[in-house]
Amino acid sequence: MRIEFTIIFSLLVIILTVCTISSMNSRKIIGKSVAFFVCSIIPPVIGNLIIVCAKDKFPAMLGYYIYFLGMDVVMYAMLRFTVRYCRIKRPNKILEYGVYALLTADVIQYAFNPVFHQAFDTEPIMYEGDLYFRLIPKLGQTYHRIVDYAIFTIVLLLFLIKSIRSVRIYAERYLIILLALVVGGVWETFYIFSRTPIDRSMIGFAVVGILVYFFALYYRPLRLLDRMLAGMASEMPEALYFFDDNGLCIWANDRGIKLADINDDDYAQAESRLTELFGDLNIKDDEWSAEKELKTEQGTTKYYVLEKHTVPYSESKIAGSFLSIRDNTDEHMALRREIYNATHDALTGLYTKEHFYDCISKEIQKDNDKHYAVVYINVNNFKMINDVFGSSFGDHVLKEIAKRIRECCHENSIYGRIVGDIFGMFMPVDEFDDAMIEEALGHFTVTEGHMSHNILIHMGVYFIPDKSIEISVMFDRARIAVTQIKDDYKICLAYYDDKMREQVLWDQHISSQLNEAISKKHIRPYLQPIVDTAGKPIGAEALSRWIHPTDGFLSPARFIPVIERNGMIAEVDKYMWKCACEILAKWKKEGREQFISVNISPKDFYFMDVVSVIKNLVEKYEIEPKKLRIEITETVMMDDNENRIAILNEFKQAGFIVEMDDFGSGYSSLNMLQDMPVDVIKIDMGFLNRSELDEKGQKILHNILNMTSDLGIISLTEGVETTEQYSMLLNMGCRLFQGYHFAKPMPLEELESWFDSVTK
Ligand code: C2E
Ligand code: CA
Ligand code: CA
Repeated sequence: MRIEFTIIFSLLVIILTVCTISSMNSRKIIGKSVAFFVCSIIPPVIGNLIIVCAKDKFPAMLGYYIYFLGMDVVMYAMLRFTVRYCRIKRPNKILEYGVYALLTADVIQYAFNPVFHQAFDTEPIMYEGDLYFRLIPKLGQTYHRIVDYAIFTIVLLLFLIKSIRSVRIYAERYLIILLALVVGGVWETFYIFSRTPIDRSMIGFAVVGILVYFFALYYRPLRLLDRMLAGMASEMPEALYFFDDNGLCIWANDRGIKLADINDDDYAQAESRLTELFGDLNIKDDEWSAEKELKTEQGTTKYYVLEKHTVPYSESKIAGSFLSIRDNTDEHMALRREIYNATHDALTGLYTKEHFYDCISKEIQKDNDKHYAVVYINVNNFKMINDVFGSSFGDHVLKEIAKRIRECCHENSIYGRIVGDIFGMFMPVDEFDDAMIEEALGHFTVTEGHMSHNILIHMGVYFIPDKSIEISVMFDRARIAVTQIKDDYKICLAYYDDKMREQVLWDQHISSQLNEAISKKHIRPYLQPIVDTAGKPIGAEALSRWIHPTDGFLSPARFIPVIERNGMIAEVDKYMWKCACEILAKWKKEGREQFISVNISPKDFYFMDVVSVIKNLVEKYEIEPKKLRIEITETVMMDDNENRIAILNEFKQAGFIVEMDDFGSGYSSLNMLQDMPVDVIKIDMGFLNRSELDEKGQKILHNILNMTSDLGIISLTEGVETTEQYSMLLNMGCRLFQGYHFAKPMPLEELESWFDSVTK
């Protein structure tokens, strides 16, 4: 018997040691408490082992000491484990310290046992021919038993309460350990009180330790997991179908049952029903996902995302698979809306610029040898429409344009709103129909409520010669074509050519450098003499020249029209008037009698009060107003006739001499002279066919000269190039002359020496 028990106890010690090490290494929070508890059982088991092996009283006594003291530690460890395992957050402090006190008292009373023999003693007994030492319990031992049983009872109570209070599926965790403790406790009690010669009570506790180790660390309450997973699967927003390893549907959640319209005891139907709904789904395949549409009975479309996953059982086997079907309609629609909003203009519903350009670039990249055209569409005076009729009417106009663009485009055309009142079209050249586009978009009337307005649209067309040109550049070029339309009401469509591009680049080049050119005196006056009938120089006209550092000598034709378009001419003119005044002031000092004529552009009147600017100049330089002659072209009188006449009168009243420039080159009529308060008219030789004047031209010239002298207006002919012209004009009664025949425009110093050489 002794050998068998020695083997059993030794085995238990080894198993408990392994369990201790394993629970020490466990990652679970409870691991340490389990380790302590299991480890605490080892000493009493060793105590038991010594008792069983002892053939002498002394080792038997030692064994009992180890056993009993060890049991105190076991109780302490068991209580600690229970508090942790049952998650008792705030253990009762009095109870806790009470327990510690009782245990400490027990240890102390054992310490006195060798002296007072009040706890226990041993007696030798013979059993199956062997000598064993059996316990003789005394008062102290009774105390020990009361304390240990009390703690044990508390532990049992705690587990009991916890298992009653917990939800049934969780109670399992506590009940199972409670059961192990009860069995272990009963075993222990039986052997303690039966007073068998061989004490085997610790076998029960060792088994309890091993069971606790297993249940606390490795037992997974499967029923609990089952319940939780099933609950979750039912609550999932997706329809779920579980298939076994043969691909047969074995379960579906409520949504799944509803979607496939099957009975909940007939899951096997699911596959065929789903195939009816979504078409062939390859349900047998392991892992896949797909998006499917479903037409509802109400005629709407629903969108679903289907995903199939396998559930692995081991590395090579699968336990089954499941299919989830999610109603994706809301997200799908939201995404579609988002894409639509991002690619379409909210007001007109046309493509936004970015999307428009994207679509064009995709079309262009297609490998074909089609030729394409872009059309740039701009509403004339849209700002005015907005200001006068209000932005709501403006919006209405834009919508009407969008509608018309849609109507006149073929299926291969792409169109969009570029920005504000600017739209664009892109189409294969063979679909480009200028007459139709002009008809649809050129001009039309928009009416809203009682408001009605004629809309004029300007369009520029660019035929794309090379598909590698950037799309924004294509539209820039089409836009340049629009700028050529100007104010012609009959024309609403213009075509781009390369000269336009050069012109625009030149315009930008000139405009960006103009201010610097003035300040650095790269722009300066050249003066062309004006002579009387005797050939005597009586004055000069100031004409601007730009001595450009890189482009060289620029005549006014190169830059005046450019800066007249953007209004910068006013800066040049002001500067030229100032230069003229400086020269006149100098001449005054030097005793020269000549006057200087300066040019005034019609555009100047839009940017300044021309009269007061010039008046201020002559006052500042203290020169007689009659020395600064004012040249205005007849086009000045074209718009705002009355106001301009008033301006001319102001000049005259202030003592200036007013000359009408380029007479005959425009739409001038002779009776205009009647109303115009001018002192001098400058007749342009160019308008009379220049060099060889025919009979008819001579007659006209003669008549003009006669009439001017009748009206008391002095006549000046410019562009006189030959002696013949000069003598003919002299005979016709012309009073003043200007032209290359006398001298070309020249810098001030040259002019002064020319004057001096002629008058000598
Ligand atoms: P414009 O006022 O009619 O000036 C006369 C133009 O005729 C000058 O050209 C002059 O050089 C040119 N000319 C003079 N005699 C002859 C001739 O015998 N034969 C030929 N073929 N041409 C002759 P330019 O200097 O090139 O100026 C051209 C136009 O530019 C001027 O015409 C004037 O309208 C404008 N312009 C020039 N400078 C200014 C300026 O500072 N301000 C403004 N607003 N316009 C200016
Ligand atoms: Ca002039
Ligand atoms: Ca002229």
